[in-house]
Amino acid sequence: MLIGCIADDLTGATDLGVTLSREGLSVTQVNGVPPADLKVPGADAVVVALKSRTNPPEEAIAWSLAALDWLRKHGAERIYFKYCSTFDSTPRGNIGPVAEALLAALGADFTVATPAYPRNGRTVYLGHLFVGDELLSDSGMRNHPLTPMTDANLVRVLATQARGRVGLVPFADVESGAEGVAARITALRAEGARHAILDATRDAHLEAAGAACLDLALTTGGAGLGMGLARALVARGRVKRGAQAALPALDSPSVVLSGSCSGATLAQVEAVKNDYPGFRLDPVKLAASGEHLDAALAWAKSKLGGTPILLYASAPPASVSQARDALGQERAAQLVEDAFRRLARELAAQGVRRFVVTGGETSGAVVEALGVRALAIGPEIAPGVPWTWAVDGEPFQLALKSGNFGGPDFFRQALKVTA
Ligand code: ADP
Repeated sequence: MLIGCIADDLTGATDLGVTLSREGLSVTQVNGVPPADLKVPGADAVVVALKSRTNPPEEAIAWSLAALDWLRKHGAERIYFKYCSTFDSTPRGNIGPVAEALLAALGADFTVATPAYPRNGRTVYLGHLFVGDELLSDSGMRNHPLTPMTDANLVRVLATQARGRVGLVPFADVESGAEGVAARITALRAEGARHAILDATRDAHLEAAGAACLDLALTTGGAGLGMGLARALVARGRVKRGAQAALPALDSPSVVLSGSCSGATLAQVEAVKNDYPGFRLDPVKLAASGEHLDAALAWAKSKLGGTPILLYASAPPASVSQARDALGQERAAQLVEDAFRRLARELAAQGVRRFVVTGGETSGAVVEALGVRALAIGPEIAPGVPWTWAVDGEPFQLALKSGNFGGPDFFRQALKVTA
């Protein structure tokens, strides 16, 4: 394993996985701390998706160290700690404390940090993070309910979270290339720095940083520096495949399970309603009796075949608030998620191995119901949304889409890839 990655949330993990895959690395994503018995086939990169961004630092550290342990046991040559490109954290952490704990466990004394991802408008200049043309502290992130970011100076932000000294690899060094970065890192280490924020305002800076930092035991940042490291691995001739993985052939009906109520998803459901047989799940009916779900299941079984089928709870805002008023928000969501869990399980028992799922929470519920622990990242359907396939257990193929992703024709695009 060329690189073992620990991501502090699920969508961030997929973002990194897709980024590495785009550069030609074979990538497996593991959801949650990998159980000791989990074996994944050889991949260039394994990304462990944790949910450790906003939980207590002690817990985030424990999970990250458990992930580190598994990754090292499975031969990770270097470790990448992935967090959000807006450096989402609080003075307690969890970026600094987790980076410190990983350094200590690796017996290392220095790492770099950069959330920069210029193609998504995240740049770091003289240590200051910009979101588009605004400083982080002027952006909407200043009002984030869990991780309000009120200081754009990342050297200062990281210094409040980390024990060791925090330095800076400034613009002039990244502009002069990998040697400039390496020289600055040597100087910072000599001065006793334990961390360094890296400036980057364009991809070339991330490439320079990737090349200069490839031999560090630990690097940290957003998907952007992941790309820089991947390109450095490719340049060193370490990556064999060099192209995005193709989806394995699979003979299975296709089922769309749509639990997101986002605008993008509603348009996607609308776009196939006349072509795919569809069944709408209604939370109020689900609450009333078991008959509604039994009917959905019987309907789905009768329709399985060559044409994809659509089971959806996705509904416009007025209908969602009706359900919420009748049942309460949590109960409505729970009923729908439980319904999708059972549908996924029982359709899998009928031989369905290919699912397209909309909604972050819904995807989590379906993945859990199917018992899928590790996924290979395959071809990208829409920016940031890949086909994936299970690499332990049954060979499920899953397209997991968080609500707002993808254009109106997403379902057809997804299922075209499998044709
Ligand atoms: P997104 O990625 O768009 O946020 P999620 O799946 O994470 O989608 O969240 C959508 C939530 O809304 C889920 O908990 C789902 O069960 C719930 N839900 C889906 N349909 C309805 C509906 N018609 N009424 C109320 N809640 C719904």
